[in-house]
Amino acid sequence: MNPSTYFTVTDFDRVYYRENLEKRLPKEILDAHTHMNLPEHAAPIPQSRFDSDWALQSGSEMSVEDARGFAEALFPSVDYNFTAFPFPIKEADTDGNNENIASLIKTKKISYGLLTTRPWDKPEFIEEAIKAGGFIGIKPYPDYVSAYKGAEVSIPDFLPREHCALAERLNKCIVLHLPRSGRFADENNIKELKEIIARFPKIKIIIAHLGRCFNPCYFEKAVELMGEIIHHFWFDTAAVMNPRVLKMAMEILPEDRIQFGLDMPVLLFHGSRRWTETTYINVCREELPWNKHIEGKDAEAKYTFFFYEQINNILSVMEELKKNEGYKKGFFKNNAEKLFESCTDLII
Ligand SMILES: [Zn+2]
Repeated sequence: MNPSTYFTVTDFDRVYYRENLEKRLPKEILDAHTHMNLPEHAAPIPQSRFDSDWALQSGSEMSVEDARGFAEALFPSVDYNFTAFPFPIKEADTDGNNENIASLIKTKKISYGLLTTRPWDKPEFIEEAIKAGGFIGIKPYPDYVSAYKGAEVSIPDFLPREHCALAERLNKCIVLHLPRSGRFADENNIKELKEIIARFPKIKIIIAHLGRCFNPCYFEKAVELMGEIIHHFWFDTAAVMNPRVLKMAMEILPEDRIQFGLDMPVLLFHGSRRWTETTYINVCREELPWNKHIEGKDAEAKYTFFFYEQINNILSVMEELKKNEGYKKGFFKNNAEKLFESCTDLII
């Protein structure tokens, strides 16, 4: 699905933006988590994958031009820039997709780009691709081992130790999407993360989606199990809307280690999120295949963009915690920029 087919900004959204976000947002944003790929890269993905994945159904392709268009429409008062990587789906054209990201880096259409790696890629192949493409890091993904979300896949299954060794040696970062149904709180995930840090102390790992902690219970448990070692990692907020999770993250994580990201082209719909203790349900206005319209048309008419509500929650938590302007600028841009700039030089 190309989200351009359903993306629209209404008058209600414009008023919401003006009243809730415009004055509270910084003037510059660097999105640390964007998937860009062209229709031809997504073309090999079989229909069966779309049938079982709400995220793919919401947005599976996005050119840089589309991304700019969405950002300008959503955040007209903001100079919005992108860190991009492919949509990491096993059946997609990952090589073509990586080449597209490399060309966007070269033409400076994105600020930074990451290379999607597959577990079977030889380190020499990755090293050459990183150097030729100007990538600041790698984006491995459990999908290259199992298409089932939350499958019992280990981190080394899709991020082999030699890929960690290479990233550390080349001074590049890794955006890591944690596997397993227990998310960040899974004891095996924690054990493997600790092993990685013990073995590669200079490695720069950004744990995506705050460790897939979309509910507070996972983040709470993960913080407890990780102990001090949590401070060795960076985190992005992509797709995290829950105010309690956001609050814990801002209270616990070092202030320069949280990065803002939206996870476009997913979540460009009007909608929100509801939570039970251990899971969440997305609600949405648009006629996406997964949408069961559980709250009815009247409630849906009052939804604004998922992203607007998410950012409103982020800003409200910052205000509640009395974070200053410097914190805000770091969160929305400078933290990611500082880390990514440190990955632009090759240390061999
Ligand atoms: Zn993502």
